[in-house]
Amino acid sequence: MTAVPSSPPALPRSIDLIRSEFPILGRQIGDRPLSYLDNSATAQTPNCVVDAMSDYYRTSNANVHRGVHTLSEEATGLYEGARDIVAEFIGADRREVIFTRNATEAVNVAAQAWCESHLGPGDRIVLTEMEHHSNIVPWYLAARRAGATLDWVPVDDEGRIDREAFTRALGRGPKAVAVTHVSNVLGTLNPVGDLVAEARSAGAMTLVDGAQATPRVKVDVKEVGADFYVFTGHKLYGPTGIGVLFGRREVLDVLEPFEGGGSMISKVGREKITFARPPAKFEAGTPMIAEAVGLGRAVEWINELGLDAIAARERALLDYALPKLDELPWITTFGPAPGPDREGIVSFEVEGIHPHDISEILDRHGVAVRAGHHCAQVLMERLGVPALTRASFAVYNTEEEVDRLVEGLLDCRRIFGLEG
Ligand SMILES: *Cc1c(COP(=O)(O)O)cnc(C)c1O
Repeated sequence: MTAVPSSPPALPRSIDLIRSEFPILGRQIGDRPLSYLDNSATAQTPNCVVDAMSDYYRTSNANVHRGVHTLSEEATGLYEGARDIVAEFIGADRREVIFTRNATEAVNVAAQAWCESHLGPGDRIVLTEMEHHSNIVPWYLAARRAGATLDWVPVDDEGRIDREAFTRALGRGPKAVAVTHVSNVLGTLNPVGDLVAEARSAGAMTLVDGAQATPRVKVDVKEVGADFYVFTGHKLYGPTGIGVLFGRREVLDVLEPFEGGGSMISKVGREKITFARPPAKFEAGTPMIAEAVGLGRAVEWINELGLDAIAARERALLDYALPKLDELPWITTFGPAPGPDREGIVSFEVEGIHPHDISEILDRHGVAVRAGHHCAQVLMERLGVPALTRASFAVYNTEEEVDRLVEGLLDCRRIFGLEG
């Protein structure tokens, strides 16, 4: 049989139609059309998500899990319905999905609660050099409290985790390993299934940071195999103020609660308190109801478009953008060459101009990019740069927007009196 080359999965509607679901994309910045290329900081939110949240407030607003009146039951149904949608999205059981404020809070609660009962003096926590500060600082705090140390796995010159160094670090018997699924700077898609399997057979607890993976990679938490998997709503075309902590049932069942209060108990007496079962055990107080509803709707929207088709679109934009940037001798791009382990995120350095100046000049062209250390100062140090400029793609971006980015960069060089 001859192999038929498979064409990338198609989106169910045109990019123009998709863009029309995001009124913000029609904005002008000064006299220029907005080119929003800062999706890895926050993605834009389609009308259906905004509508789901405002409909909730207009028609069903009440506290959840408390009343038996109609509105309270509707609110509970919507909130728990969002949990079902999210659970299905990542292949989890609904009892394994805990709503948090964002990915950062999810890492913090996992690190605190787990380390409190498992980490002691002299223990090690393995991190990689490409972690976001959200997946560094909580471990630093937990290690400091326990008298434990952080063990750093280097990133190689292509922007991938050094696997031999990773194996050596596991040989030192760490208690925990925390690794990102997709790098927010390099766009590297890490082989987390393999990394987690190796870490687990070395006896370590594992947490995977999926903040950049969930918007573009089909995640199955059973395949990843980690004890914890975290992500955030606002990078997933959803609202701010909502994130997810997935925890394996066996882990959540024995974990102490992070916070105490209403909703997370089964019985409160003067002498003794018993806790509710997960996930309620880990959701003290009134939760982010409208935000959860918004996140659920965002996930449905992603499912409608198809994550494969979204990823293919972003990779097409990357394939278009990278050669244009690499062609300019005064630009250095970072991250693996385009291929199966490279997502649509491009960080780069422009010779002679600081990223903050770049992003300010690009803004005059209507182009929104991120400039700075990208919450990854350990990685900046490894790359030997103080800061970088980053363009990151979403499904609604266009080649024309990439062209405006390149034009803007040429203008930066002109303004600074450097050769184009
Ligand atoms: C954005 C990001 C986070 C943190 O997400 P918040 O919503 O700010 O909590 C963590 N890890 C990575 C890789 C990210 O890109």
